Amino acid sequence: MNTKDKFYYFDNNATTRIAPEVLEAMMPFLTDFWGNPSSAYGFGEKINQYIVKAREQLAALINAEPENIVFTSCGTESNNTAFHTALNSNPKKRHVLTTAVEHSTNIAHGKHLQRQGYQITFLPVEPDGSLDLCLLTDSIREDTAIVSVMWANNETGVVLPIEEIAAICRVRGVPFHTDAVQVAGKIPIDVQTNQVDFLSLSSHKLYAPKGTGILYIKPGTPFSPYLFGGGQEKGRRGGTENVAGIVGFGKAAEMALADIGDHSEDRKLRDKLESGLMSAIPGTVRNGAKEPRLPNTSYLAFEGVEAEAMLIGLDQLGICVSAGSACKTGAIEPSHVLTAMGIKSALAKSSIRFSLGRYNREEEVDFLLEKVPEVVKKIRAASPQTRLKELGI
Ligand SMILES: *Cc1c(COP(=O)(O)O)cnc(C)c1O
Repeated sequence: MNTKDKFYYFDNNATTRIAPEVLEAMMPFLTDFWGNPSSAYGFGEKINQYIVKAREQLAALINAEPENIVFTSCGTESNNTAFHTALNSNPKKRHVLTTAVEHSTNIAHGKHLQRQGYQITFLPVEPDGSLDLCLLTDSIREDTAIVSVMWANNETGVVLPIEEIAAICRVRGVPFHTDAVQVAGKIPIDVQTNQVDFLSLSSHKLYAPKGTGILYIKPGTPFSPYLFGGGQEKGRRGGTENVAGIVGFGKAAEMALADIGDHSEDRKLRDKLESGLMSAIPGTVRNGAKEPRLPNTSYLAFEGVEAEAMLIGLDQLGICVSAGSACKTGAIEPSHVLTAMGIKSALAKSSIRFSLGRYNREEEVDFLLEKVPEVVKKIRAASPQTRLKELGI
């Protein structure tokens, strides 16, 4: 693909464009400031100061103290570390309680742990993507090492009641982890009101490059490292720091905090797209609750339209969207999120996620409102059912 061609990027839950301000902040660390932040001489120490600053910027975004932020290589590593540390800090406890709608990082890690003899509960969700908190409470066991529930779902955008879940876990004395990757920059995060023990974020969902994450660790929570090495991150995560990535992530966090507001503009644009498509295309249903939901996400099922055919048709027009989670694209299987919500397979396979971001403009939404109905019509007209109906069969 030639990136100079006009394209319409509506897949911001998969990744985001690098903000020019972020790139600018990073550049010195890809050119002149290439030293090792652990080095004892001034050249190293100077670079280390920028990691200190980035840690403060990320701490500010979630209202934490900087010393409780550990830099990792991605959201996946942060999520994996939370499970790892809980199971290793308390080896007698061999049960993990999570949900069936988590990002594939938790699902795949949970399945791996099952093969290793751990017990993992993947809690089902309601048809609208919400979680039954009574069921969650009843599912916490004596041997539960950790509860992990994502703050907002990457496919549906449905926001889960993290403050309540954290309170339940606190009362039961079980560490609680939340994957907040999709939340950063979209709704405020405050670890003082939402007393989570662990929280994961990823750089590339927040207008910084891929390859950096954080794990917030509440003070006093037992921690056992996942990566051992040269004592970086106060011994909590070995490996020479991705300095440029960390600096960029810090800048992205600063920008997200400055712009947190109520996102009413984003919501307006998303709602224009969603209600426009739903009224223009008969047989369109929204997956997941209308609220509480991320302001940028709309996950729609177009009855009788294979998502793969949609992706191809839209791609030809330069429209980038996703059929569920990025990792599932190209696979025939329905999304595990929709399956867990009890959505019928045919409808799940007809689902397209539109996720907006900072750089989407109203003209782009207008373009989609014009083109998406045409693509749906074309695919429906070409479907065997239509032909059978025309033949009166
Ligand atoms: C993208 C994503 C991740 C993984 O983050 P990476 O940095 O790509 O490893 C984890 N959880 C959610 C909800 C995500 O959207």
